Amino acid sequence: MAARSAAEDGAGRAPSTATFRELQACWALVGTSDARARYDAEEAARVEAVKRRSAYNIEIDLDEMEFVEPSHRAEAGGGGAGGTSGEGYFAHPCRCGSRFDVKESELEAGIELLQCDGCSQIARVLYEVGGRSEEEEEDDAVAEEEQRRQRSKHV
Ligand SMILES: [Zn+2]
Repeated sequence: MAARSAAEDGAGRAPSTATFRELQACWALVGTSDARARYDAEEAARVEAVKRRSAYNIEIDLDEMEFVEPSHRAEAGGGGAGGTSGEGYFAHPCRCGSRFDVKESELEAGIELLQCDGCSQIARVLYEVGGRSEEEEEDDAVAEEEQRRQRSKHV
C-alpha cells in the first residue's frame, strides 16, 4: 500500500520549471568534487546508521501497549490487522498517527518486530519469552500456600 508506482505519481503532473531549477541546483551542489565527496560521505553514513539499527526503529515495552479486547475490534476500526478471529491484541500508537498492533498468539509465537500500519516504522516489543514474569512468581507463591494448606488439612 505504501508503494506507489512512479507512473502513478507522475500522472497528469509534468515536472514544473521550479522542480527543474531545483534539480539543476542539486547537480550544481554535487558538481564540485568537494561537495560531492561530502555528499557521498553523508549518504554512506546514513546507510550505515540504518544498517546498524538493524531491523527496528523503536522499542516498546509490552506494559506500555494497550490491550484491545476482541469485542472492541470493529469499533477500533482503521487499518487494523484485518483478522476475523475474535482474538485480542496489543496496540501502541505510532508517531505517524497510525499504530502498531500484535495479537497475543503472535507474541506467543515469538514475534517481536512489528511494522506500523501507516508507515515504515518498525518497533520491537519487549516482553519475557520463556523467562519468568513477576506474575508467574506470584502464582508459584499462591500454589505453595495452597499446598501448605492441603498438608495442614491432612494432619
Ligand atoms: Zn507509523
